[in-house]
Amino acid sequence: RPEIGVLALQGDVREHVRALEAAGARAVPVRRPSEVEAVDALVLPGGESTTMWRLARTFDVLEPLRARIAGGMPAYGSCAGMILLADRVLDGVEGQETFGGLDITVRRNAFGRQVDSFEADVEVDGVPGDAVHAVFIRAPWVEQTGPGVQELARVKGGAADGRIVAVRGGPTQGLVATSFHPELTGDLRVHALFVDVVRQSL
Ligand code: GLN
Repeated sequence: RPEIGVLALQGDVREHVRALEAAGARAVPVRRPSEVEAVDALVLPGGESTTMWRLARTFDVLEPLRARIAGGMPAYGSCAGMILLADRVLDGVEGQETFGGLDITVRRNAFGRQVDSFEADVEVDGVPGDAVHAVFIRAPWVEQTGPGVQELARVKGGAADGRIVAVRGGPTQGLVATSFHPELTGDLRVHALFVDVVRQSL
């Protein structure tokens, strides 16, 4: 079983730990540089990207995380985690930095006030079976993708019709990001997809 860390600075860490364990991985909370070095892969949870960025600096894991992601370690980010994996952020706070690795531009809090939080069924490439019931909470969307980034899902219908909400890319195609939170629904298929990505990287 691969050992997958969950960045445990802020956000819905426990939900990801549970989902990863249920999807067949060993999941461990990670907050120190030595822990960042030890895991096979990392999940960046949902929460608040600005808070996680600031805490990552305080705990001296910003650079170690950047280096491991740039070096090909697989990572999966949901919502705030998607922002943290993006190379470029629109509507971030002044000076907001990310860990980067995914050649995408994300727009933070993109869905706007009326649909701050909403749910939709989205078909995700690589996830077999029915559409995924996706929960969006003050979510980002992907505004632009660079070469080498695969779109995995778009919203269908409604005000956000056609917006990209799941991608895969990175130095070894080991980076996965979703605007939504599969860790909150009990549907393990996105976590299972990521666990497969990690297994293939070992
Ligand atoms: N709006 C949050 C941010 O900018 C993300 C929200 C979430 O993770 N549910 O980080």
